Amino acid sequence: MNQHTLNSTPSTMDLDAIRRDFPILSRQVRDGKNLIYLDNAATTLKPRQVLDVVYDHYAYGASNIHRGVHFLSEEATKLYEGARETVRRFINARETAEVIFTSGTTSAINLVAKSWGRKNVSAGDEIIITHMEHHANIVPWQMLREETGCVLKIAPINDRGELDMAAFESLITPRTKMVAVVYTSNSLGTINPVRDIIRLAKVHGAAVLLDAAQTVAHTKVDVQSLDCDFLVFSGHKLFATSGVGVLYGKRAVLEAMPPLMGGGDMIKSVTFEKTTYAGLPARLEAGTPAIGGAIGLGAAIDYIQKIGFAAIADQEKDLLAYATGLLSELPGIRIIGTAAEKTAIISFVVDGIHPHDMGTLLDAEGVAVRAGHHCTQPVMARFKIPATTRASFSFYNTRADADALVHAIKKAIEVFA
Ligand code: PLP
Repeated sequence: MNQHTLNSTPSTMDLDAIRRDFPILSRQVRDGKNLIYLDNAATTLKPRQVLDVVYDHYAYGASNIHRGVHFLSEEATKLYEGARETVRRFINARETAEVIFTSGTTSAINLVAKSWGRKNVSAGDEIIITHMEHHANIVPWQMLREETGCVLKIAPINDRGELDMAAFESLITPRTKMVAVVYTSNSLGTINPVRDIIRLAKVHGAAVLLDAAQTVAHTKVDVQSLDCDFLVFSGHKLFATSGVGVLYGKRAVLEAMPPLMGGGDMIKSVTFEKTTYAGLPARLEAGTPAIGGAIGLGAAIDYIQKIGFAAIADQEKDLLAYATGLLSELPGIRIIGTAAEKTAIISFVVDGIHPHDMGTLLDAEGVAVRAGHHCTQPVMARFKIPATTRASFSFYNTRADADALVHAIKKAIEVFA
């Protein structure tokens, strides 16, 4: 447990107790500095409640799922399918058949682009994405464009990093087959008006994919209320381990998708002449999945639901306002991404200091942030910068963490003065 004082916040959470759930927060780095972890958009930390179930699975329950008849296999299958039900409830999908475990957001989007895309998109059809997409929601559609001759349209953003909704609307035509947008930008922090986006897309019968990689750890997502066709996210950004993620799709949409990968677990019967496929969700989950990872994801969801999104939102809102206020006062700083609707991500550049140098100097103080293009090179080009330094907060962060960040930036500014 870090020894620094936890400044008062309006939160109702017991922050001390919560921070004790995360063993890594007791680590010291760089010559005895307390770890200040502000790289949550890259990956979140893992609480004991998740680590324990993953450990228990591999220590006492390791077994493959679905195919076994023995005790351990039945038990692992029950836990894996239980995690699917936990995810279903978490995003309010109608049924577990609509929850496909993938290896993460990237693989989920690739599955949609390659399976749904090849089936539904032809030359001249249009895919709309935005200027603030992560590369994971750009490159798969470019690959589909190469294959099919479809058109990729880019909805512009303004200087605050908000989607230009009028421009977005003008891009949609009867030939628009897919609108694939990031729900929450990982480099700008912008929370997009996804309900309006979905409403406009539906007018022209376009499908909608929401990249919720930066959303599900911060706010309640309800796929039925949103009425999106697809929603994707990664376990490792939701306090679970890497290697597991989720593709939600409406049943009718998923059922019409040809499997992308063939192999074990996704078949009903195989002869050399003909193979018939299993139903959902198995049909889209060929091979042995990340069993422990999925079980851990279920535990992660249980964990954050106990804390509750109301308390999480209070805490993160406070941290965003507090840190933004402090950072704004620093000389030569420019915050990249100042949308009215923002998650607790602050990207910034400081005059005369390369973002990578800033990241290294912050690291010397024990402050872990991200420096680079954050897999959003078009965003960097839009703001005419090579990179940013990015501090991203989670509910276990404190105002003292923000103070430590600001203190470290001030020191970096002095080094370069
Ligand atoms: N989309 C967004 C908005 C992200 O922030 C990320 C990861 O940073 C991804 C997609 C890709 O996620 P993963 O690498 O877990 O597949």
